[in-house]
Amino acid sequence: MALPATQGYIHIYIGTFDQTIRFGDQPEPSVLGEPLIDFIYADLSLIRGRAHLTAESFLPVHPYFSYCDKRWQETLINALTSNDDSHTVDTLSIDQLADIQDRYRDLLSSLYNASNMLDEKQFASQLATSEWIGKMNCFNNVRLVPGSQGEACIDYFVSDFESALFLELTEVLRRRIRLKACKNCGRLFLPRRSNMDYCPRIYTKDGKSCADVGYSQTFAKNVKNDDLLQAYTRAYKAHYARMTKPRKKAANMTREAFEAWQHEARSRLDEARAGRLDADEFKNWLKL
Ligand SMILES: [Zn+2]
Repeated sequence: MALPATQGYIHIYIGTFDQTIRFGDQPEPSVLGEPLIDFIYADLSLIRGRAHLTAESFLPVHPYFSYCDKRWQETLINALTSNDDSHTVDTLSIDQLADIQDRYRDLLSSLYNASNMLDEKQFASQLATSEWIGKMNCFNNVRLVPGSQGEACIDYFVSDFESALFLELTEVLRRRIRLKACKNCGRLFLPRRSNMDYCPRIYTKDGKSCADVGYSQTFAKNVKNDDLLQAYTRAYKAHYARMTKPRKKAANMTREAFEAWQHEARSRLDEARAGRLDADEFKNWLKL
């Protein structure tokens, strides 16, 4: 497979000691890994479906398109936004962009699928068999320079969009940056805290994020489970009293009968908590 021979120079500044990445004149650095993750899920179909594309369509896809060398930006955007394939300059096409997106998304999804830790063995095996990973060669120049805030940065000078992406990928891998699959939408994200299960992407039409949706569902589930446990506990106390403190009016219970009841109640509670037994049915049974 021929790699796209595209051009468009850019300086990429990566924090020597912190996890930041800054593209060209980008005023504020991004968190290392975020531009890459955002790109693999960028909605290119939306861009492809539009008859009249503008430079602005590409700016949210990746910071590269905003901050690459201005002499190239126009050529690049023109090529991306026109349907004419006869460019004199070999530049990036929207099909190539989609191909790059597929490759990087597939790779990252396979490296982080089940656990949240980078699967190093999986990467080694991908590297051995991949048609493209081992062929990528993106460094033109490497320097150490102070960043915009005076912090130490490694300045990589690369010549095209995929090189920019590949550089970020190599840094994410060698720093073993943790990515998590969102429990709501399944897409990878960079957790700001290790116990975050849901990504901050907007998920519903009314603007709720996966985190909003996910945590409110978890909360509702916990409240419901609490409710079931309370009903079980009340019934347990009542049955226990029938065994230990026999009263004239209430039916007495032998220890064997109580233990049998407790065993049955416990397993019904588990069923109800797992959603396999209707909550009201469970509560009615407890009242018997
Ligand atoms: Zn999500």
